[in-house]
Amino acid sequence: MRYLFDHWDKVSSKIKKSPRIFLFFDYDGTLTPIVSTPEKAKLPSKVKKSIKRLIKSPKFRVAIISGRSLRDVKRMVGLKGIIYAGNHGLEIAKPRKALKNSPLKTICIALKSGLGHIKGIRVENKGCTLSVHFRLVRPKHRILVKKIFYRTLRPYICSKSAKVSSGKMVLEVRPAIDWHKGKAVLHIIKKKKTLPIYLGDDVTDIDAFRAIKGKGISIFVGGPKKNIKADYYLKDTFDVKKFIERLLLL
Ligand SMILES: [Mg+2]
Repeated sequence: MRYLFDHWDKVSSKIKKSPRIFLFFDYDGTLTPIVSTPEKAKLPSKVKKSIKRLIKSPKFRVAIISGRSLRDVKRMVGLKGIIYAGNHGLEIAKPRKALKNSPLKTICIALKSGLGHIKGIRVENKGCTLSVHFRLVRPKHRILVKKIFYRTLRPYICSKSAKVSSGKMVLEVRPAIDWHKGKAVLHIIKKKKTLPIYLGDDVTDIDAFRAIKGKGISIFVGGPKKNIKADYYLKDTFDVKKFIERLLLL
C-alpha cells in the first residue's frame, strides 16, 4: 500500500483527466475521528465547508456510505446534494422482500436482555441492521460481551438468517442477504462514466475497495495495513481533510 501524497502527481493527473469524479466517503473514522460515543462524531466544520464546495463543482459528485442508519448519517452530515447510504448501503437499495423476513427485532430483544447488565454497553437497532457498541465497556468485560453476542447469534448464523461482522469496538448484525458497501457503490454509479474514488477506514469498506478495483481509486484511512488491499492509504482523518482541500485546487 502506498501513501497517497507520495504519489500525488500521478493521482492528481488521473483526476484532472477525468471529466467526472464520484467521491465515496465512509463517515466514522474517515470524515470524523473515532470518538467515545457515536453522537459525538461531529463532522468538523472545515471538512463540511470543503465538501460543500466540492458538490458545487460540476466535476464532483459525493456519496457518503455509512454503517449508521440513513436518517442518522443524513443528520450528522446535514448537507444537501449528496447521495447518502445508510446501513452499509442497505438503505439506498432497499431490498425490501428480504428485510421483511429479517429476524432483527427478535435478535435485538435477545441481545438487550443478554447484555443489558454490562455497564457501558449499547445495543442500537438501526432498522435494517443492528450494532452493539462496547467502546465504553471496561476492557476486562469485553470478552464477555463477545461471548454473549456470539452465543445469542449462533442459531441465526447457523440457519443463515443473519450475518455478523465486527468493526472498531462494535459488533454488527445484518440480514443474511448478499449486500455490502461495494455493491452499494456499484449501484450508485451504475453505468455512469465516472472515476470512482472510495475512502474508508474499516473492514466493511474492503468490499467497496474490491468493487472499484481497476475502475477507480481506493484509499484506506488509517496508515498502511498489510491485510487490506487498497490502492493508496492516508494516515488519518486529518489527511482526508487535506485530500479534499487538494481536490478543490485541481
Ligand atoms: Mg468507518
